[in-house]
Amino acid sequence: MSGRSKTVSFTIDGITVTAREGSTVLEAALDAGIYVPHLCYMAGLEPSGSCRLCVVKIDGMRGLPTACTTLAADGMAVQSDTDEINAVRRDVVELLIADHPADCLVCSSNQRCELQNIAAHLGVAQTRLRREPKPPDIDDSNPFFTKDLSKCVLCGRCVQVCHTVRGVGAIDFAGRGYDTRIAPAGGLIADSLCESCGECVAACPVGALSLKRETPAPSREVTTTCPYCGCGCGMVLGVRGNRIVRVSGEEDSPASHGQLCVKGRFGLDFVNSADRLKTPLIKRDGAFEEATWDEALDLVACKLNEIKAKHGPDAVAGLSSAKCTNEENYLFQKFMRATVGTNNVDHCARLCHASTVAGLARAFGSGAMTNSIDELEFADCILVAGSNTTEAHPIIALRIKAAVERHGAVLIVADPRRIDLCRFAALHLRQRCGTDVMLFNAMMNVIVSEGLEDKEFVPSRTEGLDDAWSAIEPCTPEAAAVVTGVPADEIREAARLFAAAERASIVYSMGITQHTTGTDNVLSLANLAMLTGNVGRESTGVNPLRGQNNVQGACDLAALPNVFPGYQKVDVPELREKFEQAWGVALSGQPGLTVVEMMHAAEKGNVRAMYIMGENPALSDPNVNRARAAMDNLDFLVVQDIFLTETAEHADVVLPGVCFAEKDGTFTNTERRIQRVHRAVAPPGKARQDWEILCDVATRLGYPMEYGDPSEIQDEVAQVTPIYGGITYDRLRKGTLQWPCPTADHRGTPYLHKGEFSRGLGKFHATPFREAAELPDRNYPLILSTGRVLYHFHTGTLSRQSDGLEQICPPGNIEIHPEDAAKMRIKDGESIRVASRRGEIEARAFVTPRVRKGMVFMPFHFHESPANVLTNDALDAIAKIPEFKVCAVRVGKIRKKGGRKRRTKPRATRT
Ligand code: SF4
Repeated sequence: MSGRSKTVSFTIDGITVTAREGSTVLEAALDAGIYVPHLCYMAGLEPSGSCRLCVVKIDGMRGLPTACTTLAADGMAVQSDTDEINAVRRDVVELLIADHPADCLVCSSNQRCELQNIAAHLGVAQTRLRREPKPPDIDDSNPFFTKDLSKCVLCGRCVQVCHTVRGVGAIDFAGRGYDTRIAPAGGLIADSLCESCGECVAACPVGALSLKRETPAPSREVTTTCPYCGCGCGMVLGVRGNRIVRVSGEEDSPASHGQLCVKGRFGLDFVNSADRLKTPLIKRDGAFEEATWDEALDLVACKLNEIKAKHGPDAVAGLSSAKCTNEENYLFQKFMRATVGTNNVDHCARLCHASTVAGLARAFGSGAMTNSIDELEFADCILVAGSNTTEAHPIIALRIKAAVERHGAVLIVADPRRIDLCRFAALHLRQRCGTDVMLFNAMMNVIVSEGLEDKEFVPSRTEGLDDAWSAIEPCTPEAAAVVTGVPADEIREAARLFAAAERASIVYSMGITQHTTGTDNVLSLANLAMLTGNVGRESTGVNPLRGQNNVQGACDLAALPNVFPGYQKVDVPELREKFEQAWGVALSGQPGLTVVEMMHAAEKGNVRAMYIMGENPALSDPNVNRARAAMDNLDFLVVQDIFLTETAEHADVVLPGVCFAEKDGTFTNTERRIQRVHRAVAPPGKARQDWEILCDVATRLGYPMEYGDPSEIQDEVAQVTPIYGGITYDRLRKGTLQWPCPTADHRGTPYLHKGEFSRGLGKFHATPFREAAELPDRNYPLILSTGRVLYHFHTGTLSRQSDGLEQICPPGNIEIHPEDAAKMRIKDGESIRVASRRGEIEARAFVTPRVRKGMVFMPFHFHESPANVLTNDALDAIAKIPEFKVCAVRVGKIRKKGGRKRRTKPRATRT
């Protein structure tokens, strides 16, 4: 983005220092390895000069300026270590320790405390002032950390991190003079906006903010990649013995720059959980019994062989895992295709972004995020549609907030719920669930009607606008207002803001994709980006935020039923021949079944056996009672996982695999960035590497798969997968790479479609508005939408092992609008019954205007209130993604046994 930066040259204590122009004296000194004491300064924050410990003497300047607020300049002569300067610093330190508790030996920050270190550096052992230590002033309300104001030195680092880095603002300065203190807005941390990310604790230079679970210092550190969401944050695991005792953000991570969310920092309890699977299990007479690996693997091979021989290879289906590495996903699909002989392989991308892959591939020729996370910060306008970014992709949300707060970007949020990002938005378009196409078509109607389209880009880079116009033309803002509920003027304003921006970026997620119209939703966003010329440049593009840590990689490496690795279609003979040669076996050219289709086929007896690795369809599939019954209808089910999940309980054989912290490999994050995963601890009991298990099963089935380690698998991936052609572990040792990276000397691709789309010309598609598959009616008057919350992940298999996350976010809430609740006399916190045509569950009412009138919202993480009992398994015709975001439900009071007869059927509400 910028050319070579200029430098300045000056001296510190007679040593010549060269620094980037714009650096402060303190930054230059620290970069040059010259220690200048400081407390309030922290890299990445605005310097305040408030602690006055970094004072220096500069020739030609009066007094002692603070090094953190003074810009370095050519020819400057700085002294940082004279008697005069250190005397001033000692006075500051003595003032600070005069009212500081003298409990260093038992303080959690002992030996890490910056005040302690500075005092030692300056030789300050005691204070000449009268000591009046403040009494402990403790806020213990957060499950992960404690605040003790008596130790606070008011450096302000925690406040700045919370406000400017995280965009949360949960804490601030309160009071004046000697009574100044750091205070959460709600009184206690637990009552504030605090998201428990822990960055304030990491920023605290003393022991005022400290982790509750104090552990011994790590004896080694291992850099790896977070196992939760698609942001792909780099993390450093501090390990002692065989335990992870500390987690911190990796400062050099290009995806996250040292930041983590609450799950990444505090949600890794699952690694050491006593509930981990430690030995293979075989179900006999309805109960699991421990087995040896040979017994379990022989049984798996025997049953798969038997079913394949009797019913054909397509009677077997497999689910690979977006939690597993690229190497494991490559092997899983190779196992299904080359060993079993079927393309019946899929994974949970089908349930989250299948419509992205289908839609963007049709429009642009590549079904992935077009641009990089960092570029978001420099967009002039960002349209966030159907993405609760601060909760589902918290670290990406930091870039969006920074775009608004630091660079003045215009943020438009299109979401039926008043999500947290709305605090930063210029406009919140609150469309009715399932009307996204109408909304985007109407924005394009305004853009074309007012001549705001990109008149160079559209004719030179795209085709098909005339076709698309047939669907856009009827969608006037007034017509759209009736359908979407968004006022026509707001639609016009959004269209004008988006079209006027030099660099406009679209960010979306499952609010867009999880519909029977999911592919159309994606196509209409692609239309909008092309219409305004916002593809193929930095800080523009169409940016789907992928859900799981490696869902992008699992797609890239073909845990999909219609493609080989690198999106090479199974039904194209030349491509199939290429893989037949590489794998030395004849392959099927018949695209296989998708996730939900597999369950439906199992229900009918067409699929007889399934191999499920690291997925939990018993909680994540739509209409989950039907999915569970389908699994019970199988002749044989093998589950490979790290816990006895809801799905594993249906299995005949359970194989214990290992988690991210116990394996080597790579994950690909949402911005196509391939990053290393490093083994930090040994697996529990007899659990084995997932890739080794797959190789053993394949070999028992007569197709030997042998690799020395995951790097050899990646070498094979590179040979057959053009977009990963230049990826080797040697290169990844030096840094991450974004695909396409076709050759060993290619530097990777931060943004796609520069100069030309992957398919040549970008293609507009006609996307006429269609309603969702199931709409509210008299019997089921509300729309249910499902999604995620910040504190848990997917089916909760990992995150629910953390007591702290459970404490902050207990299971079972359903958001309901106050007017709907009032009509049904439902009180906040009351247990209620929620029913759809597919089943019913109990949940706790959370009465809030955050949801639109006529809709309710539930997270799907909790087995106690499994939202997917209710959801609809109707599919998008192209992407085969189910409609998680719209189904009709009714809610009502739970009739108490033996009590007065109450009305159980809720009153109908108008939606
Ligand atoms: Fe992990 Fe996602 Fe949180 Fe980053 S934002 S720490 S990748 S869960």
